[in-house]
Amino acid sequence: MQDAFGRSISYLRVSVTDRCDFRCVYCMSEHMSFLPRDEVLSLEEIERLCLAFVDRGVERLRITGGEPLVRKNVMQLFDRLGARIGKSALQEVTLTTNASQLARHAKDLVRAGVTRINISLDTMDADKFRQVTRWGDLTKVLAGIDAADAAGLKIKINTVALRGFNQDEIPDLLRWAHGRGFDLTLIETMPLGETGETRADQYLPLSLVRANLERSFTLTPSSHRTGGPARYYQVAETGGRLGLITPLTHNFCESCNRVRLTCTGQLFMCLGQEDSADLRGALRAGDAALDRAITAAIARKPKGHDFVIDRRNPAPALARPMSLTGG
Ligand code: SAM
Ligand code: SF4
Repeated sequence: MQDAFGRSISYLRVSVTDRCDFRCVYCMSEHMSFLPRDEVLSLEEIERLCLAFVDRGVERLRITGGEPLVRKNVMQLFDRLGARIGKSALQEVTLTTNASQLARHAKDLVRAGVTRINISLDTMDADKFRQVTRWGDLTKVLAGIDAADAAGLKIKINTVALRGFNQDEIPDLLRWAHGRGFDLTLIETMPLGETGETRADQYLPLSLVRANLERSFTLTPSSHRTGGPARYYQVAETGGRLGLITPLTHNFCESCNRVRLTCTGQLFMCLGQEDSADLRGALRAGDAALDRAITAAIARKPKGHDFVIDRRNPAPALARPMSLTGG
C-alpha cells in the first residue's frame, strides 16, 4: 500500500481497548469516561481487520490501547495473529504496555510469537510513579518487567519527558535501562486529549534533555531504525541505545509508514489529524466494502501533523486522547 506521497504503509497500530488501569497525567483526565462496550469491536472483528491489512502488505502489527492487557481474553488475539507470522506478509506482532498485568502474560506472549515489547515507565520512584500514573503501583510494574525479561522478551522502555517531574532522573533511568540490557526511548508530550493538566507546564523539549545528557554521556548518532519515528544514539558509557521521539522539535512525518486502528474500527491515517475512516461499518458490509474503504483511506493519508504546544493557546491540538488512537 502506497499513499499519495509515495510512503509505503507497512505498519498498523491497533488499540484493542480505550480502557486503562492507570490515569497518566499526560494521557487521561482522572475522571475519564470510556466508550460504551457495545461500540467496541469484538476480538474476532479486530483480528479480521488486522488480517485485511496484512493481506495488503502490512508487515508489523503493534497491539496497544488504552492498556491492551486489561482487555478480556486479549491473549486469544495474540495467539491468532502470532500464528500468521512468517506465513503471510506479517513479520512481527508487538505490544505497548504499562506492564501492570505483564507478570501473568509474559510467557503466553512469547508462546504466541511476540519477541519484543515496549514498556512505558516514567520514573523509578514509587511515590512519583503513583503521582504520574495517578493509580499505578510501581512494584507490580517492576515485577512485570522482570517477568518479561525472564521470559526472553526484548524490552524497550518508553519514557515521556516531563518538565520538573523526571527531568533530573533521566540519566539514572538511562543507566538502569541499559544496565538491564533494555533500550530506552524518550518521548515529548504531545497535545492530545483533555487531561486536566496544563501541557505547557509538562512539555520538556528533548533538545534540552539531550544537551543535559551530553554532559555525562557520549551520544553518537546511530543508523539503527525500528520502523518507528525514533532517532537513535549509541551511548558510549553504557553500551546501550537511546531513542528520541521528538514530534514537536523535529517533524518525522516525511517517513511515516503507519496507520492506526481504534477499538471501534476507526482508522486514523495520522495521529495528529482528525480525519478517519469507519472500518467497522465497512467490515460489516462485506469484503468488497472493506477493500474500498481501506484503499480510499490510505489514499487520503495526510502529509503530516501540526502539533504546537503554546502557552497562549492551551487547548489540545486534538480532543482525542492517545489512549483512544493507540500510542
Ligand atoms: N497503556 C499502554 C502504555 O502506557 O504503554 C499503551 C498505550 S499508551 C497511550 C502508549 C504510549 O503513549 C505510552 O508510552 C505513553 O507514555 C504515551 N503517551 C500517552 N499520552 C501521551 C502524550 N500526550 N504525549 C506523548 N506520549 C503519550
Ligand atoms: Fe493508560 Fe498508557 Fe494512557 Fe498511562 S499512557 S493512562 S498507562 S493508556
